[in-house]
Amino acid sequence: MDLHEYQAKEIFRGAGIPVPPGKVATTPEEAEAFAREFGGMVVVKAQVHSGGRGKAGGVKLAKTPEEAREHAARILGMDIKGLTVHKVLITPAEDIDTEAYVGVLVDRNSQAPMFMVSAEGGVDIEEVAHTNPDAIRKLTVDPRYGLLPHQAYWLANALYDDPGLIRQAQKVMGQLYNAFVNAGASMAEINPLITTPGGQVKAIDAKVSIDDNELFRRPEIEAYRDTSGEPEAETEARDADLTFIKLDGDVGCCVNGAGLAMATMDLVKYYGGEPANFLDIGGSSSPEKVVNALKIITADPAVKVILFNIFGGITRTDDVANGIVEATRNIDIDVPIVIRLTGTNEELALEILKNAGFEAYTSMDEVVSKAVELANRA
Ligand code: GDP
Ligand code: MN
Repeated sequence: MDLHEYQAKEIFRGAGIPVPPGKVATTPEEAEAFAREFGGMVVVKAQVHSGGRGKAGGVKLAKTPEEAREHAARILGMDIKGLTVHKVLITPAEDIDTEAYVGVLVDRNSQAPMFMVSAEGGVDIEEVAHTNPDAIRKLTVDPRYGLLPHQAYWLANALYDDPGLIRQAQKVMGQLYNAFVNAGASMAEINPLITTPGGQVKAIDAKVSIDDNELFRRPEIEAYRDTSGEPEAETEARDADLTFIKLDGDVGCCVNGAGLAMATMDLVKYYGGEPANFLDIGGSSSPEKVVNALKIITADPAVKVILFNIFGGITRTDDVANGIVEATRNIDIDVPIVIRLTGTNEELALEILKNAGFEAYTSMDEVVSKAVELANRA
């Protein structure tokens, strides 16, 4: 789950990182009032889950409260990479001497947190990684020990020569690491970490992604969720406790187990089809889950066929078959449904489905090729 800048900054502040104050406005009038409260120059910043916000005109300096209102009026409602801006952050403008990059993420190769820092901050770090990789210092953290002081020093030293700045940045490294771990983040980034003419180090931008599997431990972070930018079907699926990702194809997939769902999508592609979604209905496959899954799949007008692929290990497939029959009785579905069931009580399950008029199989190849054929014919 991605956080907005103002939310990430709240987490950073909680960890002690020096972050300028800020207030979130949803109207130009509010933006003006907050700018007046802060006094002096402010920055008006679009709060939207997308990169390249500054380049798109979503970050503007304002000299007066009136100017802050004008910028807010232009930014609120703005479209940035397909997402509408509903909120702006108003924050006092800082005088900037230097801009550095500091980030920590879960690195898949080392299976550990990894810091990346660069004195060339403010800009696109991918660009720096591409054109000047030596300008980035990397450090893998052993999660058993956390970030050690000398490591934090080494990172800070990649940014600054001045001992006072190094000391401040060293502290920020440790605070960022703690924030990252405590929030259950998969990524936490400060870009830019600035120095001011007065010799202070501050984080003026913040980006944090939380690992969804950590959210149950942190309800206050879960409450940060902003569903305005995600497909409606994904919000509904989450509420129904289903794992769903919308895709561009026309074969609606309803599968129990993430691995089987991936394999099903691979096989749909293999037979020349395109999956309309990834959907894992989980282990129990209760009728209620099947109903919710069918509602979500059929709400997508692109779907031309629905493919069930259910493996019954602990789950009894006759229960699932009854669930499908019950579920389809209660909602209108005008596309064909093909079903593959295998596992405990599969003979019984096939009989239940065939009696209810469904095409049912035990072979995955058979059902997937059938589904693709139906989708391509429709
Ligand atoms: P992003 O473009 O979405 O990453 O937004 P940032 O918050 O990182 O801002 C982009 C750039 O705007 C920064 O790299 C700065 O150069 C500039 N900027 C942002 N905030 C301030 C500020 O308070 N004062 C000044 N002088 N420039 C700022
Ligand atoms: Mn930035």
